[in-house]
Amino acid sequence: MARRKLVYDGKAKTLYEGPEPGTLVQYFKDDTTANNAQKHAIVEGKGVINNRLSEFFMTALSGIGVPTHFIRRLNMREQLIRSVEIIPLEVVVRNLAAGSLSRRLGLEEGSALPRPIIEFYFKDDKLGDPLVTEEHIVAFGWASQQDLDDMVALAVRVNDFLSGLLLGVGIRLVDFKIEIGRIWEGDFMRLIVADEISPDSCRLWDIETGRKLDKDVFRLDLGDLGDAYTEVARRLGVMPEVAAPRTRPRLMN
Ligand code: UDP
Repeated sequence: MARRKLVYDGKAKTLYEGPEPGTLVQYFKDDTTANNAQKHAIVEGKGVINNRLSEFFMTALSGIGVPTHFIRRLNMREQLIRSVEIIPLEVVVRNLAAGSLSRRLGLEEGSALPRPIIEFYFKDDKLGDPLVTEEHIVAFGWASQQDLDDMVALAVRVNDFLSGLLLGVGIRLVDFKIEIGRIWEGDFMRLIVADEISPDSCRLWDIETGRKLDKDVFRLDLGDLGDAYTEVARRLGVMPEVAAPRTRPRLMN
């Protein structure tokens, strides 16, 4: 069998050339990193869960008309996606203070924000993904003012929709990161949600207990990351096989 062409090998995912032009295969690894890969571990099965959760969130977003790169799941760890030109920005939306916002501004973790806040980080591992302003983005040509307006509109829709979806299963969407890509349709360019949406890229807190159900479990050594992600999948009805009760032994007559 011919070897697939590797397009990009990232920290948690690998991209291969897809079967048709304009497509890629996105493979979800079990590798888990934090602090710009200073901390690394293999969490067995994480890639399988994230493949399914990202499929779930992206499909749900398409259902309300938010365009995404997701085409279809191929197998346990792979999905077929549209190839996009990634805008080199991480778009972060925050509903409650946490993480770097808490550290930067001295806000207590979990404190309310006056309104959802959108931030942009320049994707550059060597620089540690620095926070940038719209001025930087337009001046350095990473995106146009029109792109920025469209990115903000997309991020707000994703936030409102995912917040509601997760609230329905008792989970608070504290913050999340998305990446956005360009696709060309003839002379027209459109922005679509790309990369992944999973507990690797969100902060998810149980509404009742405050239990963290996201990558902070790994960042802060709070327990088993696989258990936390499985709980998110279980509540959303994704991977019901994980949640299925053990088959009871059949009674003999
Ligand atoms: N995030 C991410 N990838 C990154 C940086 C952040 O997915 O490279 C997500 C992170 O999981 C959280 C949100 O973006 O849901 C905001 O992260 P924050 O800026 O608070 O960063 P951190 O606390 O991880 O330094």
